[in-house]
Amino acid sequence: SFYQGARFLTAASQLDQAPPDQGSEVAFIGRSNAGKSSAINAICHQGSLARTSKTPGRTQQLIFFALDAERRLVDLPGYGYARVAIDIKAEWQGLMSHYLERRRALTGLVILMDCRHPLTVFDRELLAWGDRRGLPRLLLLTKADKLRRGPAAAVRSEVQKGVRDHAGPIQVELFSAHARVGIGPVQAWLDERLGVPR
Ligand code: GDP
Repeated sequence: SFYQGARFLTAASQLDQAPPDQGSEVAFIGRSNAGKSSAINAICHQGSLARTSKTPGRTQQLIFFALDAERRLVDLPGYGYARVAIDIKAEWQGLMSHYLERRRALTGLVILMDCRHPLTVFDRELLAWGDRRGLPRLLLLTKADKLRRGPAAAVRSEVQKGVRDHAGPIQVELFSAHARVGIGPVQAWLDERLGVPR
């Protein structure tokens, strides 16, 4: 698939280190340990494109992957470590709000949350960030293999109800990197947001 061609482009700890704000890109964000790196790797059919993070509070960076000359995926730093220092949290918020509000190439945001505890306070903050520009968002309920089919479907419809009030389109999908569930729908959504020709 198109996403198999994803390649590391650059890492930026400030917005001015990001690639030129041209073309289109979709960013992935989620609470640490939500399964973001695993999701990016599964979507791109690569074993270790996005590195799964084991170190809380490590340098906060935006990681850019090039799909082609005009399209990118962006791995935004995880958030939500309870014990992270206040100044690191403030720094993260600054970088994220900067990026999410000013980046013109950004055409969509994928928000990942563990299907067993979705819509935390943090997740809601993230959703609200997208509201300011009516950004299309794809909400992935990760590790869906941890739930049976019925309960998983119930969580999905609960979350769909829970995000109704937001501005702009929000699609909710069950996802599992391990069981390879939901990869097709994510790719279709990305195709649309990135304007990938069929
Ligand atoms: P990140 O911190 O959001 O990048 O999360 P990772 O991708 O590093 O995953 C965090 C943990 O969740 C790891 O132990 C993964 O093995 C586990 N994990 C990730 N995706 C899945 C999944 O689809 N199913 C299950 N059961 N575990 C997963």
